[in-house]
Amino acid sequence: MDIDETIIPFSDDLIPEHSKICKCTICTNKTAQLDELQHIDQTLAGNIDDDAIFQIQSKYYNEKVKKPLEQHGIKVPDITAKDCKKHFTRHTINPKRMIANDIKVIDSVQKFLVQNGLIKKNMITNQVNVNIPVLKQWSGLSRNKLDLLRYYKTEYPNENKNKRQQGKSFNQI
Ligand SMILES: [Zn+2]
Ligand SMILES: [Zn+2]
Repeated sequence: MDIDETIIPFSDDLIPEHSKICKCTICTNKTAQLDELQHIDQTLAGNIDDDAIFQIQSKYYNEKVKKPLEQHGIKVPDITAKDCKKHFTRHTINPKRMIANDIKVIDSVQKFLVQNGLIKKNMITNQVNVNIPVLKQWSGLSRNKLDLLRYYKTEYPNENKNKRQQGKSFNQI
């Protein structure tokens, strides 16, 4: 795992970039009913892979929204999975996705610390030493992760029930 991969979501993806001059197909839409796309996002975020959600949204839009409108002679633009990704990660805030992402990021950073410096082994004596400053970072992250997990489970109890039924954990998302 690369440390850069774990830092990107904090600095980039989680900052909404919607503005008054936004040209996004979903933001500028005035013809079609897009509530269902929002609903799909709220329901599935954190439960299945984000890219799969954007595929489902695009498919739903093209079949259930665009096609019927076009049959009535109304022209509407295409909405691709890429459009959905941009819109739902940058132009709207889905707290569930943000928390799920934070938990995954913290988890990755913890794994990175374990693999890179938490334990130092002396190659000559074979003696194992725990790196105390790294251990402190690790347990700080651990506390944050537990707080987020507790909050997530309280806030979205149904999703956690589904997750257990599917035998899934955050690591598998
Ligand atoms: Zn926008
Ligand atoms: Zn948008």
